[in-house]
This record gives sequence, C-alpha cells and structure tokens, in this order.
Amino acid sequence: MLRDQTIFDLIQKEQDRQEDGIELIASENFASKQVIEAMGTVLTNKYAEGLPGKRYYGGCEVVDEIENIARDRAKELFGAEWVNVQPHSGAQANAAVMLAVLNAGDKILGFDLSHGGHLTHGSSVNFSGKLYQPSFYGVEKETGVINYDNVEEIAKKEKPKLLICGASAYSREWDYERLRDIADEVGALLLADIAHPAGLIARGLLNDPLEYCHIVTTTTHKTLRGPRGGMIMLGEDFENPFGLKTPKGELRKMSSLLDSGVFPGTQGGPLEHVIAAKAVAFGEALSDDYMDYVIQVKKNASVMSQKFMSKGYQVISGGTDNHLMLIDLRSKGEITGRDAEDALIKADITINKNMVPFDSRSPFVTSGIRVGSAAITTRGMKESEMDKVVDLIDEVLMNKDNDNKIKEIKEEVNSWMKKFPLYK
Ligand SMILES: *Cc1c(COP(=O)(O)O)cnc(C)c1O
Repeated sequence: MLRDQTIFDLIQKEQDRQEDGIELIASENFASKQVIEAMGTVLTNKYAEGLPGKRYYGGCEVVDEIENIARDRAKELFGAEWVNVQPHSGAQANAAVMLAVLNAGDKILGFDLSHGGHLTHGSSVNFSGKLYQPSFYGVEKETGVINYDNVEEIAKKEKPKLLICGASAYSREWDYERLRDIADEVGALLLADIAHPAGLIARGLLNDPLEYCHIVTTTTHKTLRGPRGGMIMLGEDFENPFGLKTPKGELRKMSSLLDSGVFPGTQGGPLEHVIAAKAVAFGEALSDDYMDYVIQVKKNASVMSQKFMSKGYQVISGGTDNHLMLIDLRSKGEITGRDAEDALIKADITINKNMVPFDSRSPFVTSGIRVGSAAITTRGMKESEMDKVVDLIDEVLMNKDNDNKIKEIKEEVNSWMKKFPLYK
C-alpha cells in the first residue's frame, strides 16, 4: 500500500511545532518515546470487551497479561485497592462513574466550571448537567480559595447524591478529609477527579484522595505523562452505600458497579494499545527519575508564580501548591485572555485563555490565562529557566500589537528550545 505521505508529513509538522515552542498548557505533557511506541502497535487490532480473564472474545491471553500489568502498576503507584484502566479519557471515566452510581435526575454538587472546575462536573452543556441535577460551590472572592464551610452549607441545602471535588484550574491543595465529613453528613458519595495533579498525588507531593474519597478518577496524560486516557480507582472496595441491587436482589460491590459503568455502560471494546502505553507510563512513574520530575514540576510552578507576581500579575489565590496557576490579567490593563493567547501563540508560546473566578467576560474571551509547568519540566527546564519564561511572556503581552517585536521573540524562543531536546 502507498504510504500516506500527507498525514505523516503533518505529523512531522506537529512534532516540529512541539519541539520549537514553549508549552505551558497545564493539561499537556510530553509522553516518552516508549509510551508513544506502545500506542502505535498491533494491539489496536484486538477486540477485548470485558475484563482480563472474563472477555467476550477469544485470543485475549496476551492483552490480558498487558492489562493485568497495567492494573497492578496503577495500584502500586497510587496505593489503590482496585482500578479500572479502560476509560478512553477522563471524561469517559467520569461518565462511567456517574452511570454506575446515579440515576437520571439525581443531584450532584461540583466545583463551578467558571472557578476552575470541569465540564463533566455538572456543566449544562455536558451530559453531567443534562442527565443529573447539578449545583456548584466556588472559591471565595477575596482569597481565591475554596471555603469548606460554604461547601458544607450548599451540600446541606442541596443534599446531592454525589459530591465531586477536583478541578482543571485550581492551584491549591484539597481537603479530602473535610469533604468526606461533609459527604457523610448529607449521605453523599464523594468523587475526587484528580485528572490534573495525579502524578504529584501518586508520588506523595499532595494530599492523598484515596484515603477519604469513595471513588477517584483521573486522566493518564496530564502530570502523569502517559498516553491520552482515563482510569477509575478505589482506595477500599466500598460496598455501594446506596444499596443498589442487581436484578437477582444482590447488593453489588462498588468495584463491580464501576466495572459495568465502563463496559457495557458507556464504552465498547477497550483500547489495548493505549492500555499497554498506560502500563509503560505507570512503570515510568514508579521510577526515581519520575520522582525527581514531579518535585521539579512543583518547584518550577512555584517559582513561576512568584515571578509573575513580582511583575505585577495577579495570581489567583496568591500562588500554587501544584503544577499550575491561574492569572487574572485585569491587573495588567485591558488585555483579555483571548488577546494573550493569540499574541503568545505568534511567539510559539502556548498557554490557554481561562475564565477567572467572578470573571466579567465570556468563556470565549475571558480575563485570565492558565499556565502549567508539567510539559516544560519534561523538557528539562529548572527554576533558573522559569524567570526567562515569565520574562518572555511579559514581553509578548506588553507588546501584543507589535508584530516585529513578537517575531523577534519567536526567533529567540525557537533557538532557546533547541537546548531542551525532546524526541530528536
Ligand atoms: C482534563 C480533565 C478531564 C477530562 O479529561 P479528558 O481526557 O480530556 O476527557 C476531567 N476532569 C478534569 C478535572 C480534567 O482536568
């Protein structure tokens, strides 16, 4: 067959883009060559509906071994009792959980999308806001931090069946113990969605949700640095506290409910090539090198946030405990999140515009940007490079309408990034 040069040329072009630029999108990272290699394999050919040892298709002996290794490594990495590594993405993991433990019309309580939450935590444009009845908690205006007394108050009023914590743009630690108290008080299940900080949590740099939360979901491609995918975990195999019964009248275990939430509930055949890559990534995440990596991710984010503040940018909550920060640009005049994103991309610096808490602008314009350290740390950047990254961003933003200046900065970015080789 003729090689599809059109697509492979575009893949090369995308690789060049990734190599040449400064990647600061907080949800992105660079998977290792062996993670990528595992994904591009014959495993994609295999149908394996069901779980290892209990498949609906023959010929699954080898993929069973692979999926079992992925599960064992994930359990070791997070100290989980049970995992399902099949969700195709973080959103799929959340869909499977909600299908497993909720009925249509049940109440859920999540972190407000416009304060840093995720679409799958009850947004009106997402299945979670259409099938269930959502309510939200947010951060305090003065501090930019979640006030748990306020969460408790809303939970007592709304009586949700599922309380969701975790975020896409919240730079502070979560108090899972307190949230569990609140969940117990109102008879809710507690779900922690650790899609973003999973890698830092796995290696003990942030509080452990598995100790307190009934269910934990994550992606595998953000700080965890694996292939694009999702996963569901249990710290203990809780019996279903709502007494959901099978047609035979048996009380089902939470693990079995969640397994069926994934398949047949919301997915068909698992992506065994991606599961193999997850196994590789979990193996990497158990290494000393990865421990050094996550420590550096956290240091780099902290140094970057200090540097932004020293230049007069308002960092929401005044800093970060994890790998990301949310910056309110209103402290810098009329520049919007969209202006900032557009100007920075011309200099090959990638960030994303982001709503800030109590934003006066729409989600398409926004007043803020979100910046993360996971990807640039993978490229080998350390604290000393963070100053320059922030200086470059500031220079672009302060000259956002000066195309010549931005072109100069882009050239500087491209030649600087050659010092941090990626795949070449
Ligand atoms: C990224 C993210 C997800 C969704 O992950 P996808 O793999 O993009 O579906 C879910 N929850 C949170 C909190 C996230 O940040």
